[in-house]
Order: sequence, then C-alpha cells, then structure tokens
Amino acid sequence: MTKRKRNLIITVLLLAVCAAAAVLLLTGTGGTSLSPKLQMYSFNRKLGTADNSGFCRTTYEIFPYSFCDSDGDGIGDIQGIISKLDYIEDLGFDQIWLTPVHPSPSYHKYDVTDYLSIDPAFGTLEDYEELIEECHSRGIRVLMDMVVNHTSSDHEWFRKASDYLHELPSDWEPDTSYCPCFGYYNFTRQPQDGYAPLEGTNWYYEARFWSGMPDLALDSEAVRGEIETIVQYWLGKGVDGFRLDAVTSYHTGDTGSSAAFMKWFCDTCRRIKPDCYIVGEAWTDRNTIEALYSSGIDSLFNFPFSGNEGYVRNAASGFIKASDFVNAMIWSDEAFRRSNPGYTDAPFYTNHDMARSAGYYAADEGPVTKMAYAVSLLMSGNSFMYYGEELGMKGSGKDENKRAPMYWSDDPSDSGMCQGPPDMDEVVMKFPSLRDQKKDGLSLYNWFRQVIKVRRAFPAISEGTVEESGLSTDSAAVFFKRCASGDVLIAMNFSEEQTSADLSGLGSLELAAVLNTSSEKITYEKGMLTLPAYSIAVLTVRHND
Ligand code: CA
Repeated sequence: MTKRKRNLIITVLLLAVCAAAAVLLLTGTGGTSLSPKLQMYSFNRKLGTADNSGFCRTTYEIFPYSFCDSDGDGIGDIQGIISKLDYIEDLGFDQIWLTPVHPSPSYHKYDVTDYLSIDPAFGTLEDYEELIEECHSRGIRVLMDMVVNHTSSDHEWFRKASDYLHELPSDWEPDTSYCPCFGYYNFTRQPQDGYAPLEGTNWYYEARFWSGMPDLALDSEAVRGEIETIVQYWLGKGVDGFRLDAVTSYHTGDTGSSAAFMKWFCDTCRRIKPDCYIVGEAWTDRNTIEALYSSGIDSLFNFPFSGNEGYVRNAASGFIKASDFVNAMIWSDEAFRRSNPGYTDAPFYTNHDMARSAGYYAADEGPVTKMAYAVSLLMSGNSFMYYGEELGMKGSGKDENKRAPMYWSDDPSDSGMCQGPPDMDEVVMKFPSLRDQKKDGLSLYNWFRQVIKVRRAFPAISEGTVEESGLSTDSAAVFFKRCASGDVLIAMNFSEEQTSADLSGLGSLELAAVLNTSSEKITYEKGMLTLPAYSIAVLTVRHND
C-alpha cells in the first residue's frame, strides 16, 4: 500500500469516527443508557489517572464501623471495604480516607490505644495490607487518619504516667528518667481550663475534648520520636498519606505553634516518602486556615464552604448570590495561596461530624440536594465526599446518627449491612437504598456517578484556578477555570427557573458536558447558553494556536 493511499484510508476512518461522535453529541444519548430522559453529553475523554494530576484527586471518606460488614457481626470491617472497592472505583474516586482504624475502646476510634495495630473489630494487619494492595491495583490511593493531638486514656503511655503519679509521694517532683511517659502529656498541679483531674492524685492533665482523651505534649522530643516511628511504619506499609485530626488543638489558642508542629510532621513524612499527601482538619475560619497553611501542609479542609451554613449550601439555596459564591472561591484561593503557594484546596460538603446534606432541604425532592453536592465536587483541588451522600442518606442530631449504616439495601439483614453505632437513633431515609437507586437513571446515585465522571474527564476542573467570567448573576454562576491542561467554563443554575447567558464575548467555546436534573435541554447555540432549572454545563475553551 502506498503511503498516500494509507493516509486517505486513515482520513476516511477518522471522518467516520467524528461523524459517529457528532451523532452521539446531537442526540444526547451518550451518557448512560440508564437515563433516557436525561440529556448527558458523551465526552471523548478518559478519566484522569492517579499519576498525572498531583494531589487534585477525588476522595471518598469511609467511616469503617458503618460501611460494610463482611463477617455478619454487624460491625463494618476492612474486608467489607475491600468488597466495595469496585463500587468506589466505578463511582470515579481515586482516593479513600478511612477514619481511624487503630485499636480503641470507642466505635469511632478517635481515642487510640495502639498506633501500630489494627482494631480487631475491623480486621487484621494483613487485611489492611490487602486493602492497600487492592486499592493500588485500581489506581486508588489510601489516606490514614492520624490522631496525634491526643491518645486514649487507656493508651499504655498514659497508663504508665498515671501509675507513676499515683505512686509518687505528693511532695516529690516527677522525674522523666524514671518515667519517660510522664513527659508525653501535659501534667500540672494547677487546675485550669481544658484540664481534667487525675483521680486519686493532686495532678491535672490537659484533655481538651474529654477526660478519656489526654492531649499529647507535641513539643516533646520523645513524643516526636514515637510519632516518627508510627508514620514510618505505615508509610512503609504503602499508605499514601495522612489526614490529621484536630490540628487547631495541637496548641490550643496558639495557631503559630500548631503550624510549627504541622511543619515538623510534614517534613518528617516527606523525608520518608517525598510524594505522600497530608490534609489537616482545622474546623475554623478562613483567616486561621490561611495562617495554618504557612506550615507547608498540602491541604486543609475548606470548612467555610462546608456544612449547613457554608458557601455551597448558601449558594444552592439562593441565600447568597451565585456571583458571591464565585468570589468566595477566588478569595479563598488567593488567601491560601498567599500562605502556601503550592497548596491544594480540599473542598468538601459534609463529613462524619456534620449533619448529612439531604436534611438541609426539607422540601426538596432531589434537584437541590444533587446540585449542592455537585458544586462541591466541581471545586478545584482534592474534593472529598462522605460515604452515603451519593445516595442522599439522612442523619443529624447526635454524632451517631451522622454515621448511620451505609444504605446498601432497605433490608437490614442483607449482606454487608451494618448495625450502626451504639445509641444511634432510628434514622429514616428520604431517598431509596443503593439497590433501588441503581435501577433509576434519575437517582442521586446515577447523578453523582456522572458528576465525578465529568470532574475527572476535564482535568481543568480539579486543577484550574477560578476566574470570573463577568456573567455571574443572582442565581447563575458562570466562571472559568484555567490551568496548563486546558481551560473550561463552568455554568451553574442554582434556581428553579430556566436561565440564559450570552457567552458570545467569551471566545470560542464548545459545549463539552452537561449535568442536568430535569428533562429540559441545555442548549448552546450562536453563543447563547440556556440552562434549565438546577443544571450545570461545562464548556471547553478553544485557543487559536
Ligand atoms: Ca464485621
């Protein structure tokens, strides 16, 4: 075959492929066969891979006690999580964060008694190693919850210190050469705020959360030596990074000292594993988060956007203008970048300490719940989603209710179902279980599967910096995201009314993906974008180069 002839055949083949793609695009049936009523543009893009996108990932938060039970004792476990990795991968996540898995007397395990083991209720060390291996074979990274602000009062370090002080004559000064663990905690003979009495002695110890969680003395060289041993152990097992619990309590009321400890922690981890990822929980305002970014930590959860009073909820409910939501994203990015130019934002909407989002919108039958979480998932950085939110699970009030059993099925005796935390109230669900939502193309589950697909198909969504388009209004946010991998324009309609925007002045755009909660069509014709109620359009920006 001559070279020219081959070129011709290839050109014809390419044309045929283009024609097929165009038909798919125009008929709008390419998204999923499950949702014939929904307009879903197909996009000829592969999901981003775990290796090419820095820390801009999409992370699923799992509360192990309530996720999936593999052995029928009603308590979720690591083998249960392994059995659901296909589910997690299919949803589009490329990272998981497990709340603590270390031995602990509580169901939530935030009071650790042994940092170098796995709680037997959850499984064995071999199970955890298998989880890491199974995740990595799917391109999913694993974050371990690292709770070093405090231990359990049942931890052997605290028991040794406590035993020592019980035996110490009351007029003697403690000596850490006799009991090194005395120096692991903050003991004092002076009663003060945030300190609990050590029963049977005249001593008090720092315990900011409750007496069962004594705070560690994080500036102690001996404590830092222990922490280094712990992170070295788990990074050696293949863990990809850590979620740091309660970082504002490291040195309560002293942001600079808390940041200094975080810097030491990050430096220590990176010395062991240069590409490990660290995200911190600083449940506080934007200014304090900005100050804590000076530690050089990769990410801090973006609390101002989360929960029932955050920017996401307020934008989705129309309590703030859509243009103010865009500005909030820009200001937040500018503030955090000032403090740590290499930071990766960590947006999230809800977590295990917050009421679930379906409860924020009593009258909503789905669209607002769908839009709000999608807005969070389309933010830049490493976006986190709490398990069960993809089903619109309910759960509010006491903490136990926020950690209700993953709603795989409405039959509690079905395999995998957990019993939920002790003392949990009965949680009545608003939307069906996964078993039923899978069959329904209009379900929340199928919506979020599509949202994450769009997030990962266009790397600019996670990696891009937000820029105003000048077109945002009270109810529609229209903004660019620009980055090296290409620019996108995102348009979101938060209202129950159809809206239109004239994009003709914004350059050469192409409608690339749509997320639609209704059967009304999103159209883009002659520069005019029409967005039905509660819908999102992603347009790619063509450059003339
Ligand atoms: Ca179990």
